[in-house]
Amino acid sequence: MSDLNNKVALITGSTSGIGKEIALCLAAAKCKIMLNGIEGPDVAALISKEMTAAGASGVSFSGANLIESGGAANLIAATEKQFGSIDILVNNAGIQHVEPIETFSDDNWDRIIELDLSAPFRLIKHALPIMRKNGWGRIINISSVHGLVASVNKAAYVSAKHGLIGLTKTVALETAPEPITCNAICPGFVHTPLVDLQIAAFAKSKGISPQESIPAFIREKQPSQAFVSPSDIGAMIALLCSSAGAQITGSSFTMDGGWTAQ
Ligand code: NAD
Repeated sequence: MSDLNNKVALITGSTSGIGKEIALCLAAAKCKIMLNGIEGPDVAALISKEMTAAGASGVSFSGANLIESGGAANLIAATEKQFGSIDILVNNAGIQHVEPIETFSDDNWDRIIELDLSAPFRLIKHALPIMRKNGWGRIINISSVHGLVASVNKAAYVSAKHGLIGLTKTVALETAPEPITCNAICPGFVHTPLVDLQIAAFAKSKGISPQESIPAFIREKQPSQAFVSPSDIGAMIALLCSSAGAQITGSSFTMDGGWTAQ
């Protein structure tokens, strides 16, 4: 992917899980990487080293909290200040909470909608003028199979991820005549800390250990009976950012081992 050399890529939530692997893929394509996450500077320092080793042409980190007021605007400003541009924006940071709607607290609803839907809106809003000035941009929103279908007890997450697909289509139409694209990726289960919490709850309900429960946990939803690999999501994003992705916009790509084919 030599055409990504020196492109500036901002990946939210890149201090863990899927976001970190996306950042590593873009680092391998020689992008300048802006990391973001709330794990703190020690974790960020370690991950920054991994980015440099993978081939990044520059690395920086912002601990901007995207739930806090002004967090998204600060992150865009920090990226532009550090690298003078933003070419690729990956809206990846996200949280989950699993509970029946009757007891689902307003606070959990607000936090999920804010991070999983409103933060991407704000980041796109602030990044677009920079992309337009440069005459090039790639926006990728990490939605979920839950942007396409629902599961019980995930009211806020399913609502936010469905909304993110709507946002993706709207931004794609608003940028369609320009060399800017906006797409969504909809993964099934990926083995990250976000899913570990759900595996632990599933295991508890069955009275077995989390490790033992994994095959049944996946089988319930994902016909391939295997986790989606975070690095495969990174590879998909590198493809969307390459010249081959120029006419791909407004699309949602499932990477779900057949979950939504059922
Ligand atoms: P993860 O828990 O491993 O990582 C979440 C990242 O978001 C971390 O870097 C964390 O620092 C960051 N983050 C959390 N709160 C933040 C805040 N307030 N401000 C800024 N950053 C914050 O999660 P993951 O599984 O890698 O999930 C990444 C994305 O992929 C999420 O949007 C999630 O909904 C989506 N997704 C995950 C799966 C899965 O099975 N793991 C499936 C489909 C979609």
